[in-house]
This record gives sequence, structure tokens and C-alpha cells, in this order.
Amino acid sequence: MNTYFDNNATTPLHPLARQAWLRATDQHWHNPSSLYRHAGHTAQQLENARERLGNLLGAEPNRIVFTSGATESNNMLFAAYHGRKTAISAIEHPSVRAPAHHHTHVTEIPVDAHGICQLQIPHDAAIVSIQAANNESGVLQPWREAAAHCRKLGIPFHTDAAQWIGKLESTHLGQCDYITGSAHKFGGPKGCGFLVLRHEDEHIRFHHGGPQENGRRAGTENYPAIEAMVTALENAHPQSPEPRDTFIHTITSAFPHIRIISAGAPRLWNTVLMVMPAHDNLKWLIRLSRRGFSISTGSACSSGREGSSIVVTALGASPTELKRVVRISSGWHTTAADWQALTTAFQEVSHELDTGGPGA
Ligand code: PMP
Repeated sequence: MNTYFDNNATTPLHPLARQAWLRATDQHWHNPSSLYRHAGHTAQQLENARERLGNLLGAEPNRIVFTSGATESNNMLFAAYHGRKTAISAIEHPSVRAPAHHHTHVTEIPVDAHGICQLQIPHDAAIVSIQAANNESGVLQPWREAAAHCRKLGIPFHTDAAQWIGKLESTHLGQCDYITGSAHKFGGPKGCGFLVLRHEDEHIRFHHGGPQENGRRAGTENYPAIEAMVTALENAHPQSPEPRDTFIHTITSAFPHIRIISAGAPRLWNTVLMVMPAHDNLKWLIRLSRRGFSISTGSACSSGREGSSIVVTALGASPTELKRVVRISSGWHTTAADWQALTTAFQEVSHELDTGGPGA
């Protein structure tokens, strides 16, 4: 048995995305840039996928550049602002933080006690980047307000929406100047994503080489992955937070000293970030894993490094609290029974750890 509760790290391929990938690979494997009829069909299918994605994001299709995922999209964007002043939230994913610091002069925008980014936008920033939803805590960030505020100031606004897209309604994201997305966060394949740009960025050459993606990103397009990504998104729908909230209710009754991070803030329906009352998070993770439950100690990109939760650090947690952080994130396949079984497993593991049971 494997009950998977790490969907913010990655998701299994949606069955319809898998079908779409196989169909595209079998029938439309030709190079979209070639000139014969079959290649023309692939190119048409590719443009059709771009249009469908544009509809889902509320963005004109010609603003979309297909990439290998959110990390590449974020790196491309900050490389284009090389040497400039930028402002990013204090809780951005490492794939925003690292290229922003590498290429630009960064001001960090702080979060409040709930982990919500404050709208203190430096007026001299050449670009502002605030994620749509946080990958660790699931906290929804005020990207709409930030986009409107930046528009008034005449500053381009980027949102890394890798955790929002596929979980919540996305048709308003097109209001942002730049949007980052990643297929494997919503049932699409890994190694596929996109960056939405402004119309005026039409001539930016992010990767040099062939004329693909209107000259903006050279390299033969991965049409089967793109088709699978768009199909996954067409089949991804917001879900009720109720099973997650029932879990929180039960676990906080079972462990009165547990701390749910950002419990008072609007959050993604699938995510719980919590500080366990005792025992290091790796002990919880290993014992839950032995029982068939996959959870996380924070974001996959920073787990494995001790005390690495960016969010819990930004909220001013102590080093010992940082070692007790666990993240649980459900998906379209998770049932209420899975959540219930997870609660029971937490109670069993707690007993094992407290009493020095097997391997404690
Ligand atoms: N941004 C956010 C908010 C993420 O959660 C992730 C994945 N952990 C990424 C970017 C990186 O995505 P990818 O794996 O597609 O590079």
C-alpha cells in the first residue's frame, strides 16, 4: 500500500493525460518545424494546445512560451532582468530566490504573522515577483492585489503559480504580466511547463538556436508532454477542503500541542504544514513511510537539508521547531478514508516514538 500525501512535490500522471501523451507520441511525433503535411498537423496540434492553455489562464496564446517546468521559467525570467533591481516575497520557492539573487539586486518583501505577503512594493523595482500559493504552507498570496498595485506603479508583476494552477480557478491569472506554471504539479508529466510573458516581450530571445516558440526558446517542442499537460489541466478541478479540515480537527484533538502553520490564513484545499509537539520530522517521515504513507518534511527542493523550511523560518520559528515540521498534501486521488488512515498512523507512530518502540 502506498498512500500518497506529497502532491505539492509532484503528482501522479492523470489517466487522461497519459492517454493524451500516448496518442500524441504515436500519431504526432513529427517535428512541428518540418515542412511536410504530417509535421504541419503536429504544429497545428501544438498551437491548439497553446490556445486551450491560454483559455484556461485567461491569457492570449501568443504570450505563452512552453518550457521544461517552473524552474526553467523562473530562471529565464530573472535572466531577462539581469543587473536590475527586483522585489520578491520572503517565501518564494528556491527556483525564484536563487536566480533572482544570482542575476539581480533583490529586495525581499516580508510576510505577516499568518505567512501572507505584505504589499510593501519598492517603487524602484524593475519587476516584482509574488507567488500565487505557497508550496509549503499552501497559503494563498494576494497576487491579484499585488498585480493591480504594480500596474498602477508601472512595474511588471510576476507570479509563480506552480502550486495554484490545477488546484484553483486560474482564468484570472492572465492579469499578471508574467506567470510560471509546471505540469507535474497538476497531473501532467514532469519536465513540462510554461512562462507567460507580456506582449512587449515578444522579441526576447531566452534560448538561442532555432526559431521555435516564436524565436523565444529554441529547441524542438515536446508536443506530447504539452498535450498531456493541457489535458491534465482541463481535467483538474478545485476540491473541497473538508477532508483536510476534518484531519486537522482530529489531529489537533489527538495532539493538543501540535501547531498548524497559518491555520488562520486562506490556504490551498490540499495542504497542511504543521510543527509536531515532539520528535524530529525525519523520525515521523520514516515511520509513516514504513506504514505506507508518503509525507514530506517541507518542500522537496529543500528537504534533506536540516531546518530548511523557508516559510517556517520567515515566521520566526526556533531551530528546534524547524526540525519538527511536516507537510501533508493530498491530490485528486486522495479519499476521506486515506485522511482517516493517516490520522490513525500518526497516533500509532506517536505511541511508538514515545514508548521507544521498534527503531524509535
Ligand atoms: N515553484 C514552486 C512554487 C514549486 O512548488 C515548485 C516545485 N516544488 C517549483 C517552482 C519548481 O517546479 P519544477 O519542478 O517544475 O521545476
